[in-house]
Amino acid sequence: MMNKTVTLPDGSAIPALGQGTWRIGERSGDAAAQAAVLREGIERGLSLIDTAEMYASGGSERVVAQAIAGQRDRVFLVTKVSPQNASAAGVAKSCAASLQRLGTDHIDLYLLHWPGRHKLTETVDAFEKLREAGKIRYWGVSNFDTGLMQELAGISPNCATDQILYNPDERGVEYDLLPWCRARKMPVMAYSPLGQGGRLLRSAALAAVARRHNATPAQIALAWSLRDGNTIAIPKSANATRLRENATAAEVDLDERDIAEIDAIHKPPRRKQTLNML
Ligand code: NAP
Repeated sequence: MMNKTVTLPDGSAIPALGQGTWRIGERSGDAAAQAAVLREGIERGLSLIDTAEMYASGGSERVVAQAIAGQRDRVFLVTKVSPQNASAAGVAKSCAASLQRLGTDHIDLYLLHWPGRHKLTETVDAFEKLREAGKIRYWGVSNFDTGLMQELAGISPNCATDQILYNPDERGVEYDLLPWCRARKMPVMAYSPLGQGGRLLRSAALAAVARRHNATPAQIALAWSLRDGNTIAIPKSANATRLRENATAAEVDLDERDIAEIDAIHKPPRRKQTLNML
């Protein structure tokens, strides 16, 4: 199965389409089936997996551990420290706990889940120490607006990404955050790229474009989020049929007419907006 890639600031290529895991691992009885879907996703090229210590209070990371067991090296593993744990000691402790739950000795990309009360300098120092110790390969942030990204850039040049809410109904980041990141060759990660499976997937514009491509609205939403080559999308599905549908979305290339039809209904921002988060 073909996936696209996105380039990190250091030149490494990682999968553009990955798998989200929010709300996975909440009930232990579902874990084996959820891990099987994640494994099938890896087989189909969706080998970037996004989780967080917060999801199901560690339950999501435990399901991811089952999915990656025996094939750790095939996966680009992303997890997040919660902001209340983002002190120097807290980051080290959270990372150790995530590594244990994930059943691995390293995380590929470790993110600050959203901005909190701990000083950014302290969190960044803690990330750098983990990097030097080989426990994480890259670090980044999530839910940071342009102002915070500028502040962060004044502290360190090493942030690998900003994971943000981005889909055709949530385009505020196109005004300044996406251009800011693109200028620094820093990819962004689009979360909730399917609008959480709700109203977005009933969009008439996505349906019309989908018909021309013999695709589904979900595949068009994902192809749309990958269209600039600098965005990683992490749709979540715990269902094998929908996972297969999502996995082929990277094969869809949208043309100018498709983009214009989507823009006509899901309008790009005309002025600066505050960053929305879930
Ligand atoms: P999403 O990926 O936009 O949508 C997931 C929902 O859509 C699920 O209910 C899923 O149900 C359904 N779905 C999946 N594929 C579908 C398809 N082809 N057709 C129709 N419905 C489909 O929403 P999300 O989970 O909020 O976001 C994705 C990931 O981003 C999360 O899982 C998490 O890893 C990350 N995230 C990060 C943050 C942050 O603050 N950094 C916030 C939110 C999310 P089924 O599972 O039943 O298929």
